[in-house]
Amino acid sequence: MQFRDLHRQYDTLKPQMDEALLRVAQSGSYIMGKEVEVLEQQLADYVGVRHCITCASGTDALRLALMVWNIGPGDAVFVPDFTFFASAEAVALQGAVPVFVDVDPKTYNIEVSDLEKKYNKICGEGQLNPRAVIGVDLFGQPAEWNGLRFFAEQHKLYLLEDAAQGFGGVIGNCRAGSFGDISATSFFPAKPLGCYGDGGAIFTDNQEWDSLLRSLRQHGKGNDKYDNVRIGINSRLDAMQAAVLQVKLKAFVEHELDDVNTVAFRYHELLDNKGISLPMMPESFSSSWAQYTVCIPNRDAVRQLLMNEGIPTMVYYPRPMHAQTAFAAVHSVQGPCPNADRLASSVLSLPISPYMLPDETQLVAKKLLAAVTIDNDKMSMI
Ligand SMILES: *Cc1c(COP(=O)(O)O)cnc(C)c1O
Repeated sequence: MQFRDLHRQYDTLKPQMDEALLRVAQSGSYIMGKEVEVLEQQLADYVGVRHCITCASGTDALRLALMVWNIGPGDAVFVPDFTFFASAEAVALQGAVPVFVDVDPKTYNIEVSDLEKKYNKICGEGQLNPRAVIGVDLFGQPAEWNGLRFFAEQHKLYLLEDAAQGFGGVIGNCRAGSFGDISATSFFPAKPLGCYGDGGAIFTDNQEWDSLLRSLRQHGKGNDKYDNVRIGINSRLDAMQAAVLQVKLKAFVEHELDDVNTVAFRYHELLDNKGISLPMMPESFSSSWAQYTVCIPNRDAVRQLLMNEGIPTMVYYPRPMHAQTAFAAVHSVQGPCPNADRLASSVLSLPISPYMLPDETQLVAKKLLAAVTIDNDKMSMI
């Protein structure tokens, strides 16, 4: 069994995918161009925002958003302590200071009450200028965007959605990618919507930011490529990835999002009320299940037992941001984040994908329950 089986998706989409890849190879046009334009329109329509600007990665998407807002030295940006490194790295890359905020132990997403605490602390010290909040749709589940928006508006902070894992998530009638003032996503192959390399996209309703982003991703171009009006970066999507993503977006919308939810539901039915803490979703939220992550006390022992049985699992994430070596060396505000600490030592992500068969889900659940029991017996003998 594989942790995330990408072969099955290719086998299923092969005719359309091979056609798309050949089409680009024969076109002689490999960076940006028509394929990218078509994809950007499809993505904007699906997410329900006015503008989609593709770029070279999710990390660049976050960074470009911060560049649009001129966030830099002296500025504080609030970031959840429990996330993938890039959410906070983008802040530090701009020379701004990431302020780590604790997360909710049930949803794994940023906790608005702790955000308020950390914000008050920064204001009280008076050294840094609070500018933005980054909410992360961790493991595919949207963050508490209503609470975050209320807070951000109250304190005049920009709201940046890190939807790198969140594409396809929903709150009410709104889709992930539409929750931030600017939202960023990633097309890294293992994300809910992945390409065959690196890629990313930025979403916004703001016309002015749209123009700025299109300039910034291409060396700060003005009227044409060789008229450079600001310092930007090189962060474009290539035509091959755009063609791949057109095929994959169609499958994602037609069946993959439903299929992965079916798999998650199966896990829930098999594992509920068995002493394992399962992912918790607030009312009217739905996830795109980038990961199916449970919490168990003797995580490392259970993981080893599963590995012996041929069941691959992952630990997302073994280290909260405040414990990352890199953030000891740059200015960051670490603060206490006890929930993130606890999660780092108890989370375990199980294999999941839209193409996972019922037998496989059942096998993982059975072996997991057995491993938890064996380990509990062992612990009680000591
Ligand atoms: C993957 C990921 C990113 C970075 O995306 P890349 O395309 O790999 O640069 C940022 N934030 C989160 C939460 C991610 O999971």
